[in-house]
Amino acid sequence: MAEYHPNPQYRHARRLPIGRNHPQPWEHVVSISGGKDSTALYLLAIERGMPFTAVFADTGHEHPATYEYVDRLADLAGGPPILRVKADFTEAMARKRAFILGKWPAAGVPMERVERAAALMVPTGIPFLDLVMVKGRFPGAKSRFCTDELKIVPMWYGVQKPILAAGRTLVSWMGVRGEESLARRDLSRWQRMNPAPYSLRKGERDQAQGWRAYAYRPIHAWKRDDVFAMHDRHGIAPNPLYAQGADRVGCWPCIFAKKDELRLIGRIDPAVIERVEEWETIAGDVSKRGEATFFCVTDDPLYEHGTKVERGQHGIRSKMQWAMTAHGGRQYDLMARFEAGASCSEIGACE
Ligand code: SF4
Repeated sequence: MAEYHPNPQYRHARRLPIGRNHPQPWEHVVSISGGKDSTALYLLAIERGMPFTAVFADTGHEHPATYEYVDRLADLAGGPPILRVKADFTEAMARKRAFILGKWPAAGVPMERVERAAALMVPTGIPFLDLVMVKGRFPGAKSRFCTDELKIVPMWYGVQKPILAAGRTLVSWMGVRGEESLARRDLSRWQRMNPAPYSLRKGERDQAQGWRAYAYRPIHAWKRDDVFAMHDRHGIAPNPLYAQGADRVGCWPCIFAKKDELRLIGRIDPAVIERVEEWETIAGDVSKRGEATFFCVTDDPLYEHGTKVERGQHGIRSKMQWAMTAHGGRQYDLMARFEAGASCSEIGACE
């Protein structure tokens, strides 16, 4: 295949694996997370020299450094602006409030708790927290609704669906590298896909089935060093969280945070623990069970099956204490469970 260099400054740029005589116009959409891989992807898209849309899904639960990094990236790199999309749970929260007022009293929940939960059920402007309130729980390995609802859905409605509904072909660029995990290794660089989020109603997913959309993973074969080399070539420093010891960026912390990440947060940003602790209290108040913990208790090696879940014992504060100790209980690897899941691994929405 002939090499294609729309921008002669970058001789390594390669033609996209798409047909020349395709009847519909292509629209390239690059997903940005603020992490090293999606930044490299953005820089690669600039090198390719064709028009593209860059989009960042704001969960409301990122480190301030990540927001600042995403805000400045386009100017620093000389690329297109990075659109910010955000999930809105206003309607879902109104439905949940009506459900609480209508059903909880009949289920025997004391009126004091019913009224407190209903009063809390108003949008906070923090998508992560609003979603947790709607669900009455935090996401976990077996119910990872966060990626879909906080990232994929807003990207779908904000950017992807309008492109497809207008009869154009979507090329969704994903910053996924095969060496990151077994699940990612087996993904192909280029594949036809149904981009409609899994959480949509069947009718909407069926409609999307007929639209032309492709997943494009141009850095799939790249090594970690290639990613940083791309930053260097453009004179762009990676997200400063890496220099502070972070292995990944994204939700801060992620529900799959490992012990090392919790230690890092305890060292460089302990205030975030208070915020998450407050969220646990709110989530507990709007949960019929009366308790909610940021990390799934059944993944907790210190949790004995069948015992009562309590924030004081299983909440983020106790998890931080466990992480900060050298002998804080059995090791467990949430990331292994993370990789066993679906959407995050495939699309690289969570780095
Ligand atoms: S980074 Fe973690 S918590 Fe955030 S959406 Fe992805 S999987 Fe969920």
